[in-house]
Amino acid sequence: MNASVRKAAPPATETAAPEVFRNWVGGQWREAGSGLTFDDENPAHRNSAIARFQASEPVDMRAAVEAAAAALPAWRGTALGERQTTCARLLDLLKAERENLATIVCRENGKTIREARAEVDSALIEGRHHVNQASAFGGHTLPISATGMTGWVQYHPVGVVGIVSPWNYPVNVMCRKAIPALLMGNAVVFKPASYTPWSGIFMAALTARAGLPPGVFNCVTGAGSSVGDALVDDARVRAISFTGSTAVGKRIQQRAAANLTRTQLELGGKNALIVMDDADLEAALTAVMTAGFGCAGQWCTATSRLLLHDAVHDRFLDMLARRCERLVLGDPLDEHTEMGPVAGFRQFEGVAQAIATAEREGARKVTGGVAEGALAEGYFVRPTVFAGVTPDMAIFRDEIFGPVLAVVRFRDLDEALALANRSVYGLSSGIFTQRLDASLRYIAEIEAGVAHVNMHTGFKDPSLPFGGWKESGYGPPENARQGLEFFVEAKSVYLKHAPRGR
Ligand code: NAP
Ligand code: MG
Repeated sequence: MNASVRKAAPPATETAAPEVFRNWVGGQWREAGSGLTFDDENPAHRNSAIARFQASEPVDMRAAVEAAAAALPAWRGTALGERQTTCARLLDLLKAERENLATIVCRENGKTIREARAEVDSALIEGRHHVNQASAFGGHTLPISATGMTGWVQYHPVGVVGIVSPWNYPVNVMCRKAIPALLMGNAVVFKPASYTPWSGIFMAALTARAGLPPGVFNCVTGAGSSVGDALVDDARVRAISFTGSTAVGKRIQQRAAANLTRTQLELGGKNALIVMDDADLEAALTAVMTAGFGCAGQWCTATSRLLLHDAVHDRFLDMLARRCERLVLGDPLDEHTEMGPVAGFRQFEGVAQAIATAEREGARKVTGGVAEGALAEGYFVRPTVFAGVTPDMAIFRDEIFGPVLAVVRFRDLDEALALANRSVYGLSSGIFTQRLDASLRYIAEIEAGVAHVNMHTGFKDPSLPFGGWKESGYGPPENARQGLEFFVEAKSVYLKHAPRGR
């Protein structure tokens, strides 16, 4: 009943002395004031150290804000065309470095090399979208109710903005926020997640090569609880764009309120996929495997609750279990590996605990569990499916953020929608059905920022906004026009015409 295993042998590079990287502040590589560093672990190899990063303190974060504030006036004054050219150059470099960066993401995050390449590719697609849409983003003139004057709205950069990103998409999330911020003329202070600092520092080096002036983009590594607070609390920072857990998002929102700093919070989810009795089951199965277990279940848009119609429940569950057991786990750098480990120790412990709780609360484990044998060398969890889940169980309610699927049985669309909406979260969702009326009803009633019909719950495109409802998000969404709007202030201008006869 075991999923296939490939031995995750430590590559030679994992045993070499780790290189030490510094913060990128004001166009210079700087050490943290503390003189301390922390290790970046490859989660396929417990206790490995692939590189070292600065364990920064609030004073280092304040220096980065200072550098950004100093660089802001000149950057704000550049022409949009120049900013677009610089950002396009950054994306060209990203494309040229695709394999190097994908290898870093793979090693420090644990996602497979193919998933890491796909992440770089989506960063490129989204980044180019923003560079292009910036040309059509501008103010507008409106009719004024009084005569003898003209009025219009014009946009200005917000100023110094803070960007805090999670480890699950270290390149893509950073680009989705930083490129719109830079295009709109802001100066950025970026705090990457501590599981994946290398991708952030690598991107910082690319911004320098792309020709961003010193101080326009700064990257400071270190614990979120220390430097994160310093970034949010700094009154010179006028906006915070954050992606991460709902708990940290709420803390940021509370602290940002002290200076009325604007926030864009992209948070957790517990995304439901409904499979109706008339669904194309093969297509639904592919969707569940993709969004349930892609990146070891660590997508914010991952399918984590699978709602199955009575009529297809047993058959689909059987198909799912067989497919899960064939999934190849192992060394993420191996081209044949289909699922890597979860991203780190804390993450692994959380997932293991959620599995134990589900068993204790009476859910039936169909397949999976924490991996043993050769895979215990890393933080591997097999694709895990629990059936017989009820809404009172933690596995139905709490985001696990790992390869663990909660399966719930339903009788009709009414019950499916009620179950799907029974969550504090509302990020993504999906339905598989051939019925137009069922699709339309689902689209109308699902409480989520993203709705998919006959597609997996993780699909998104930069032309449409991306953001969650309820406790999955706050503030304007990312991508689309709104992705740029978050990074500008609007100014209403009134200009009086010369009076007649003068
Ligand atoms: P997290 O623990 O909330 O951390 C996210 C980022 O916030 C990290 O860089 C973290 O730094 C930093 N941080 C921690 N405490 C902070 C504080 N007090 N002030 C400012 N920043 C602070 O989340 P995660 O475990 O990295 O990511 C997983 C979560 O992200 C899941 O809930 C997932 O659903 C969500 N997510 C949402 C989306 C979306 O678009 N909605 C996308 C991806 C992920 P350290 O790493 O140093 O702790
Ligand atoms: Mg790591």
